[in-house]
Amino acid sequence: MASWEEQLRDELAGRGVAVSSVPGKGRALIATRNFFPGEVIIRQEPYVSTPNKFSVGANCDNCFSSRNLRKCSVCRVACYCGRDCQVEEWKLHQLECRAMAALTVALTEEEKKKLTPTLIRLMVRLVLRRKLQNEQAIPSSGTDNYNLVDALESHISEVDKNQLELYAQMANLVQRILPSLELDLKEIAHTFSKIACNVFTICDPQLRPLGTGLYLVISTINHSCVPNAVVIFEGRTAYVRAVQPIAKNEEVSISYIETAATTVKRQDYLKPYYFTCTCPRCVKDSEEDALLEGYRCKDQKCDGFLMPNSENKAYTCQKCSISRDEKELKKMASEVLLLSDKASSILSSGNNSEACSMYKIVEEQERKLYHTLSTTLLRTWDTLSKIHIELQDVQTALMYCRLTIPVYERVYPPFCPLIGLQFYTCGKLEWSLEYTEDAVKSLTRAADILRITHGTTSGFMKELLVMLEKARAEAYFKLSAGDEQQIDR
Ligand SMILES: [Zn+2]
Ligand SMILES: [Zn+2]
Ligand SMILES: [Zn+2]
Ligand SMILES: [Zn+2]
Repeated sequence: MASWEEQLRDELAGRGVAVSSVPGKGRALIATRNFFPGEVIIRQEPYVSTPNKFSVGANCDNCFSSRNLRKCSVCRVACYCGRDCQVEEWKLHQLECRAMAALTVALTEEEKKKLTPTLIRLMVRLVLRRKLQNEQAIPSSGTDNYNLVDALESHISEVDKNQLELYAQMANLVQRILPSLELDLKEIAHTFSKIACNVFTICDPQLRPLGTGLYLVISTINHSCVPNAVVIFEGRTAYVRAVQPIAKNEEVSISYIETAATTVKRQDYLKPYYFTCTCPRCVKDSEEDALLEGYRCKDQKCDGFLMPNSENKAYTCQKCSISRDEKELKKMASEVLLLSDKASSILSSGNNSEACSMYKIVEEQERKLYHTLSTTLLRTWDTLSKIHIELQDVQTALMYCRLTIPVYERVYPPFCPLIGLQFYTCGKLEWSLEYTEDAVKSLTRAADILRITHGTTSGFMKELLVMLEKARAEAYFKLSAGDEQQIDR
């Protein structure tokens, strides 16, 4: 019988990819044929997964749907949307069912905060799935076997002491949850370290987080701040699609982080993954960073960007050459950051109208400091738009949403799902206000981008395309009604 490596190679060869080692990077996923934008490079089910809010039953354990949920009557933890999902999960769940009931009771509130129940449940399922595959109670394949977990990078030698201690505690807890199995605690702690830098956050089509999963082939895809592919989930199935043409023998890359940030910030976001990115953006000079930081000209009528000028510790406008003192800028920036933190804590306390007034003050201050194409103003406008949607003030929500669009288009690559989703939000708001022609334009832009990143067959995309058709029909009807009126006259 073929080894798992040979099986993996054969299964991936059929899809036009291969796992290879790349000097200095470890494992990587390489295209063995050309891929065009929008094409699925690889699709994978998780080896193990769990909804993030499993103890309150917000999503089905199997398909991540949030509709018609019913809790398992024994553990009152696992949740399913129907019989089919329950049956599919049964072999694994019957082993964890009682243990899960014990987990939620055994953990104190403090432990829940510290020990990340999601990762613990993921580990319990990992151990159980390995057992089931070893006993051949469930099938395994080249892309679905525990050897791929063994092959994951753990970076254990770089993990700090406190974190290692935490992993050891978590391993103990896993043993407490599964008393009938004899576990190698050291190995479990080590595996926690692997999971930590290899798990994916499973999101809905609008990129709102729902759960956590381990995708063993997709985990071999390395990061780039200018990725040529993107991961989007349908339920818990992960789809990696090309967002740029990828040539044969080229490495497939995705982004692990928020890419609309300066190089220093991006390197900081990448710390949990233990590598230094050397993508084209990370090795370039600092011009792009200055634009992303986005300080504005002192002259309120000038729309120039400022660039740092190390000689006189100042930032100089690229249009009119007026300078702003670096110290003064940094002071203003830290003051406005304090205000914005305050606004954010009011928002998380659920007081939308108070948060709204606070964010308006933040925006006013930020406008004195930042260019209208800066990422700082982008975040504030995004938040203000969302708050106004909550407050059902659609008109104002739309105004802020429209302000964000040029910034999204500037700071993200052309086929970034975030741009598509922002056009989608904009189009929906316009449609609800009966700005039909504007809605057609926005939804068309949304569909053009999302059809590449999301494909066209998911429920979300079908809904979007139907909405676009309706808006087009309505706009056409309005236009022809307008023509008739003219004829009448
Ligand atoms: Zn389901
Ligand atoms: Zn159960
Ligand atoms: Zn980079
Ligand atoms: Zn200027």
